[in-house]
Amino acid sequence: MTDRKQEIAANLAGVEERIAAACEAAGRRRDDVTLIVVTKTYPADDVRILSGLGVRHVAENRDQDAAPKAAVCSDLPLSWHFVGQLQTNKVRSVVGYADVVQSIDRARLVTALSKEAVRTGREVGCLLQVALDAGEGGRGGRGGVSPAGIEELADLVAGSEGLRLDGLMTVAPLTGAYAGRQRAAFERIMDLSTCVRRTHPAANMVSAGMSADLEQAVAAGATHVRVGSAVLGVRPGLG
Ligand SMILES: *Cc1c(COP(=O)(O)O)cnc(C)c1O
Repeated sequence: MTDRKQEIAANLAGVEERIAAACEAAGRRRDDVTLIVVTKTYPADDVRILSGLGVRHVAENRDQDAAPKAAVCSDLPLSWHFVGQLQTNKVRSVVGYADVVQSIDRARLVTALSKEAVRTGREVGCLLQVALDAGEGGRGGRGGVSPAGIEELADLVAGSEGLRLDGLMTVAPLTGAYAGRQRAAFERIMDLSTCVRRTHPAANMVSAGMSADLEQAVAAGATHVRVGSAVLGVRPGLG
């Protein structure tokens, strides 16, 4: 094994242990939580290593970085998740490789994704990104729809050709009423998920929790955790 492979394998084992312990503490089955490794800022070689270590889901947040990585890794049995703010002019590229877009937060984006999915004959899984710190009807500073806007957007996705409404995604807010209260934020997203599932029973994915707060997300009931730095190392600068 190369040094890098050894390092990633050890980190991955540590994260796996954390997820297993959190599931056990919450009385949940380990299979009920899926690990998505966030590979942003890290090279395609690392994605290849992760795949060799059994990782099946990876996430990226910038199309410029993700598109070439996904292209050179297209031989690997991976699902690609897009988790960044998405401009409509990037939709064509993103639909080329993303199996799931987790950052759906406005109608215009839904329309553009649907059009491109239909054009290319692909089905794109969609999670609504919920901004728990957004004002009524507004969007969050880092993207995301406000809780009040979920229902309308969920109905739009569910009624759009080429798109599949899979559930909700959130990032624990740094500001507002939930700042520093990850567990409460994740419980709120679970309640919102329950509401969505009344009309869309199949939309049962809840993507929440990152390196610093995956335990709280698993405790609240998240089905997917998105872990970057705990597996690949701390990213230099922002990203
Ligand atoms: C970077 C990122 C993550 C992973 O964050 P870490 O703290 O590195 O685990 C998760 N979700 C989103 C949306 C991200 O941009």
